[in-house]
Amino acid sequence: MVGQKEMFFEIWDERPKVCTICYNPLGNEPNAWFFSHTIGKGAYPAFKLRKKNIDLMCANCHHLYDHSTHVAKTIANFGWVFKKAERLKQQYNWYIRNRLLVDSRLKHQ
Ligand SMILES: [Zn+2]
Repeated sequence: MVGQKEMFFEIWDERPKVCTICYNPLGNEPNAWFFSHTIGKGAYPAFKLRKKNIDLMCANCHHLYDHSTHVAKTIANFGWVFKKAERLKQQYNWYIRNRLLVDSRLKHQ
């Protein structure tokens, strides 16, 4: 099982090192605060370690997204993130429903 730190390093190697919102360069060090969960790991723990649920953001944009969401929603550059979050929530609900289905089938074998 790959942990969050390992996943962050993989993403850092794979993606352009710029903020996906304001396009500021992120430098050469993969700081933990560059890795923004599109849908929160508290409310959606099963997607905590999904790369598709991580967006690279500078500290300012990440802070806006997590802690001033009502402000972020008024900024056009954030539009795609909120659309992506809606998609991921639907995928999450599908995943949870079907995972429970698979688990209950396994129990009856
Ligand atoms: Zn930014």
